[in-house]
Amino acid sequence: MKVLKYIFSYLNPIAHLGDKQYTVWFPLLTSVMIYILSELFGYFLLKKPNSMGTPDIIITFIFLLYFSFRFAIKGGIVTWIISTLFFTYFIISRQATIAQKENAVIIAVTLAIVYAFIALIVGWLKQTIDDLIDKEADARRRLEAIIEQLPVGIIISDKTGKVMQVNKRLHDIIGTAVDKGFIVGKDNPIVVRRNNVLVSASESPLAQAITKGKPVIGKEFVVKVDDKRKFIQVSATSINNKKNNVIAGVSIVTNITEQKELEERKDDFINIASHELKTPLTSAKIFSQVLQKRLNTHKDIQVVDIANKLNIQLIKLEELVRNLLDITKMKKGKLPIIKKKISIKDLVEEVVEEIKLISPQEIFLNWKARDVVYVDKDRIRQVLTNLLTNAVKYSPEDKEVVISARTNKKNVEISVRDFGIGIPKQEHKKIFSKFYQASGRDTFPGLGLGLYISSEIIKQHGGKMWVESETGKGSTFYFTLPLIKSEDLL
Ligand code: ADP
Repeated sequence: MKVLKYIFSYLNPIAHLGDKQYTVWFPLLTSVMIYILSELFGYFLLKKPNSMGTPDIIITFIFLLYFSFRFAIKGGIVTWIISTLFFTYFIISRQATIAQKENAVIIAVTLAIVYAFIALIVGWLKQTIDDLIDKEADARRRLEAIIEQLPVGIIISDKTGKVMQVNKRLHDIIGTAVDKGFIVGKDNPIVVRRNNVLVSASESPLAQAITKGKPVIGKEFVVKVDDKRKFIQVSATSINNKKNNVIAGVSIVTNITEQKELEERKDDFINIASHELKTPLTSAKIFSQVLQKRLNTHKDIQVVDIANKLNIQLIKLEELVRNLLDITKMKKGKLPIIKKKISIKDLVEEVVEEIKLISPQEIFLNWKARDVVYVDKDRIRQVLTNLLTNAVKYSPEDKEVVISARTNKKNVEISVRDFGIGIPKQEHKKIFSKFYQASGRDTFPGLGLGLYISSEIIKQHGGKMWVESETGKGSTFYFTLPLIKSEDLL
């Protein structure tokens, strides 16, 4: 049975497409054998050797086609040579009239030409197909080697989400095998969470990329592998054909556990460090302010100046610590906001008094607004302090700073204007993002957190924050807060 199977598979030309192994021996021996059999048949069984001409022509034609398709040009040519020799022998060996022989020679020459063409064309076709298949296989092998070597997990599916290929790394990352044939989007091979909520299979980025035909980038999930928490980042994209129809999908799974844990440790460290710094700092600040007031009454200008400087440094340090604390709180969720009904005008005046202590610039107040708002006083104080310290920090000592306020139906709009270095237009949006400092500002210390936190605070109060500014002319920072509504008072 096995031998039969082997023989069949050796003879089957389709099974050998692409293998490029062309021998001359098999077609040579087979052709010789066939002609010997045909002669034996003609001479001894039929006893009419001349009548074998037509069957030999047909048999030759079939074998020529077969051998040139199975063994390419080599196989075709060897069959052609044997057949030409055989037909020459056939004409010489048969008894016939001269006219009959002349006829036979014409037919034999014509056939030889036709057969040569067939052998070359079919053989060349076979070689071209083999080359194409071989190139395709090479490309696939290269791709497979790359996929296996990549330091990320890969899943390739067809357009229905049926898994076609995965690499070994995927198994290492998620701790479970995803077998070929598994349907993405129907079943989760593992329990997946996002922000502590279970994620259903249909939310898989690969399933979404295939259904929407759009890439899904950098989605983070948490999975449990051997009872340990692992953070993974998944991106997926559909693969489309020329007509833009989805034909497959690919998903890339990256293990970001180490990175995440390091980030968590860093956040914890910042949190603890800032907490530890806060208490002594607040006391130091209070003491320095008392000292400053006391010294003021003694009129010793130099010492007052030193106390003043001490106070400035402490305010800066306090802001820094508060910002660090807030940023870690914000990473874990929103900043806690405790609202009360207050007069925003009183709050602005309070903050201005404090900033005046450290500001060489004059600060003016231009108030044309109603002022009762329902806000977290400390948080809004933080916003005002940030805007005013920035205005002071980024403008020359001899220019003033102006705070204005006006109201429309729903909001109070407060602005802080300075006449300092200004901010280039292309950076107006960016300065509200985390850790962003406008370009070319090496001489100004800071972390680039103040405006980010301030704008988040204003957002959480239902307001907006923006800037109008021109380089060299100064900046005006605006923010709005909703005016008090009757339901706020309930
Ligand atoms: P920090 O001042 O600590 O760097 P902020 O978030 O308060 O961080 O400000 C972000 C950036 O915006 C600053 O680095 C500065 O370049 C720019 N900026 C903020 N306020 C002003 C201002 N009034 N004038 C000019 N540039 C400003």
